[in-house]
Amino acid sequence: MGLFSRRKTGFVDSDILVIGGGMAGCGATYESRYWGRDLKVVCVEKANIERSGAVAQGLYAINCYMGMQWDENQPEDHVRYARNDLMGLVREDLGYDIARHVDSSVHKFEEWGLPMMKDPETGRYLREGKWQIMIHGESYKPIVAEAARKAASEVYNRIMVTHLLMDETKPNRVAGAVGFNVRSGEFYVFRAKAVIVCAGGASHIFKPRSVGEGMGRTWYAPWSSASAYALPILAGAKMTQMENRIVLTRFKDGYGPVGAYFLHLKTYTQNAYGEEYESKWYDSLKAMVGDYVDHHPVPTCLRNHAFLEEVKAGRGPIRMVTKEAFQDPHKETVGWENFLGMTIGQAVVWASQNIDPKHTNPELTTSEPYVMGSHATCSGAWASGPEDYAPDEYQWGYNRMMTVDGLFGAGDTIGGTAHKFSSGSFTEGRIAAKAAVNYLNDLGSETPQVSEADYEGLKKVVYQPMENYQVGRNEIVGGTVSPSYMQPINGLQRLEKIMDEYVGGISSHYTTNEPLLTRGLELLGMLKEDLDHLGAEDLHQLQRAWELQHRVIASECVTQHTMFRTETRWPGYYYRADHPQLDDTDWHCFTLSQYDRNSGEWQMEKAPVYHIVD
Ligand SMILES: Cc1cc2nc3c(=O)[nH]c(=O)nc-3n(C[C@H](O)[C@H](O)[C@H](O)COP(=O)(O)OP(=O)(O)OC[C@H]3O[C@@H](n4cnc5c(N)ncnc54)[C@H](O)[C@@H]3O)c2cc1C
Repeated sequence: MGLFSRRKTGFVDSDILVIGGGMAGCGATYESRYWGRDLKVVCVEKANIERSGAVAQGLYAINCYMGMQWDENQPEDHVRYARNDLMGLVREDLGYDIARHVDSSVHKFEEWGLPMMKDPETGRYLREGKWQIMIHGESYKPIVAEAARKAASEVYNRIMVTHLLMDETKPNRVAGAVGFNVRSGEFYVFRAKAVIVCAGGASHIFKPRSVGEGMGRTWYAPWSSASAYALPILAGAKMTQMENRIVLTRFKDGYGPVGAYFLHLKTYTQNAYGEEYESKWYDSLKAMVGDYVDHHPVPTCLRNHAFLEEVKAGRGPIRMVTKEAFQDPHKETVGWENFLGMTIGQAVVWASQNIDPKHTNPELTTSEPYVMGSHATCSGAWASGPEDYAPDEYQWGYNRMMTVDGLFGAGDTIGGTAHKFSSGSFTEGRIAAKAAVNYLNDLGSETPQVSEADYEGLKKVVYQPMENYQVGRNEIVGGTVSPSYMQPINGLQRLEKIMDEYVGGISSHYTTNEPLLTRGLELLGMLKEDLDHLGAEDLHQLQRAWELQHRVIASECVTQHTMFRTETRWPGYYYRADHPQLDDTDWHCFTLSQYDRNSGEWQMEKAPVYHIVD
């Protein structure tokens, strides 16, 4: 036994284990208690649920609200909207399921104290766009977390979950998870009858535009480290649409969001010479994607495409015209407040660069790609759909259960359901929890069994990076360079470089092809071999080591999916230069993958897209 794997082990038994206490995790914890009054519900979070996840620093808008009480939108409308934005490919059953329940979640937020902006004339929630409502959301996360804390039997903060545990009595059934406390170093074995993974999406798998001292200032939270994907992948769950990464148009250097500016302030963009440019790229886009370019609203990826082409043509930078809107004092206030409640960093960047948007039109940029299933993309686990709405082929068990028995997911974790955002992720957590309680009720007295050999083996694996460091630290040859271990930051930069150069990142203008992907997979394979030699000098670095492990396996999945889909479905998100056109004949389908952790092989297949809403 190694030096560090002698650490104390804490055992926690529960009925429902929620991994990740972000928006989806809080929804899952809250609803587990509602349906399972006597159940033991445990939420485990690597930070502190008070301020964790993508909503940590607050939001200015709730992006998914139907407004059914005022007949503003119906769930079917939202399905049509998401389907259009994702170029035809969404799980309509899952999307409909969220849309029909999301308003009730938002009403709860208000009841719990979230200040909502209201239209003074109608008394309705103030709309920023067709789906977005505006909030004073600096404390959005603490408000939602309070409900989860009160509902949970126990919340374990500061524990990073590294692996799921499988049942030793029944193949393909989950039995819990293991992780370590990032402060005390204690090892934890969580035994559970059902597990709901809500561990957030993936930033920093592609090289970010912000490097060096600015590398933490990415658009998506830097602590979103792909656990939502790695945990199910390693447990053998099928994944879907992992190629469907997202690229965001954002204010340059601070990644400040542009939604409120476009939608509420009615700003618009122009090239370096003050020209409108989107219409110039219409014909070339039409040749690539056909009629999709004529859809309204124009799908997000296609709007990116015009931006990218204009920059490639040498007419950048693209700027947002704020000077007109900011003459109106109300709009000027809204423009600044939009950042103060959500991305203060952008206001600081502008101040440091002498940009007052009232006098200078700020530059925009396109971000590096991110993988997340709750925003305007669909990556994630392949899940069973709602009993009353999903086609037979999408139902093999309980709502939001993955292809592993007892393993549920929500938010960024679940694939095929774009545009759920904060409110939809919370709602999906609730949906998954209700189904997990049903699963437990049907399970009766049967309890999944965890093998001691399994968790003891994992304990050794989890602390191995500390062991590597301890053993190899005297061999340092210069600065921090060691011949026998690799620091997590070096591994991360190597991963980002591979993904950037081979899988369609910023340096290749989001373009890849089969030879590049093939080489990318070879290099990822070599990186995976070297991960056995990660070195962690302390618990913080140990967390970094495991975040890297999760990012690497998720990246491999993204690369396999990108290779499999031989078309360019979402120009503006990425391009297959060897298959430059959208191909509805062969690829109007979902891509599915399954990883075999014993052989390291990936199985790829297609699944049909059912259009349930007309
Ligand atoms: C920059 C940005 C702006 C956004 N703006 C808006 C907006 O204006 N309006 C809106 O409605 N939505 C917005 N969203 C979307 C919204 O934040 C997400 O849809 C939502 O947070 C997803 O919920 P989630 O629970 O899946 O992930 P998160 O809320 O990110 O939660 C994941 C949780 O899992 C934890 N975790 C991760 N790994 C582990 C592990 N291994 N072990 C234990 N815990 C782990 C994390 O610490 C985190 O608490 C925005 C997102 C981003 C990134």
